[in-house]
Amino acid sequence: MPEGRHEDFEIVTHSITMQQVADVYGFKINRKGFMRCPFHANGSERTPSLKVYQGYRGFHCKACGVGGDVIRFVELLNNLTPLEAMMELAATFQIQISTDVDISPETIERAKQARFEQQKAIILEQQKQADLKRLGTLIQAFEREIEESQPFSDMWCYCQNKLPILRGEWELLFNSINKRN
Ligand SMILES: [Zn+2]
Repeated sequence: MPEGRHEDFEIVTHSITMQQVADVYGFKINRKGFMRCPFHANGSERTPSLKVYQGYRGFHCKACGVGGDVIRFVELLNNLTPLEAMMELAATFQIQISTDVDISPETIERAKQARFEQQKAIILEQQKQADLKRLGTLIQAFEREIEESQPFSDMWCYCQNKLPILRGEWELLFNSINKRN
């Protein structure tokens, strides 16, 4: 089973209406736009309660609450995965999707790895930004302490000694964040 691309789902859900799908799978829609819901009461309800929306807005059953787009409908109806349901609809309605073209497993693997690396870089960057912020807050606290404490007191000396180290760490971090931009 080839990897489905996000666009394929978009293409399929915006190419077929729920009316067309109901039609193909043998459901009758009444004049008010309702059909018998196949997802509750074994599909044998007397008053149709599944609303078929106009255009590409899918369906919703007023009785059991199940709803979604055309892919979701076929997924539930035929007990398929979303990808299988999407491909079934694409095949039934002859919609051209990217999975029609053979994508090599290597290409998919590379794309996955690239996506993973990208996410990892973003997380690391966010961590650095958070560390920088925390360090900045700490530096401010030390500066305040120096202002408020007696000059040459133990606390004053402690802060005076620590501040250059903290500032150095802040600068290193700041540079490592900004050198890549
Ligand atoms: Zn229902």
